[in-house]
Amino acid sequence: MDIHTRQRNSFDARDGSSCTDWREHANCKGDTSLFFAKKAERPQARARREAKAQRLCDACTVRTACREFARDHREYGFWAGESEEDRHLLGFTVSAPIGIRARRHQDAS
Ligand code: SF4
Repeated sequence: MDIHTRQRNSFDARDGSSCTDWREHANCKGDTSLFFAKKAERPQARARREAKAQRLCDACTVRTACREFARDHREYGFWAGESEEDRHLLGFTVSAPIGIRARRHQDAS
């Protein structure tokens, strides 16, 4: 089970909604490996991975719903062309922004 499906199931179970039907039409359905960082991913690898993910998001018909979901639920990962850092800068900070702090440290050095 991929992380989008796991998060969807926990979200649906929590509030009983079916507002995640948009995921059935997602370009990334069934393969979300491009959308979440692997452990200890280097900045260059992250940039390459996110560039590939961006191309899928650019052509995705459910991008608006995906973006709103990620912002509303303070998600990790790359959703609808936005990283968690992008969402943080827009005021949608994840609950525990470890990656953002780590990247700031790397950028400063
Ligand atoms: S916009 Fe991107 S992350 Fe969102 S469902 Fe589409 S392909 Fe997946």
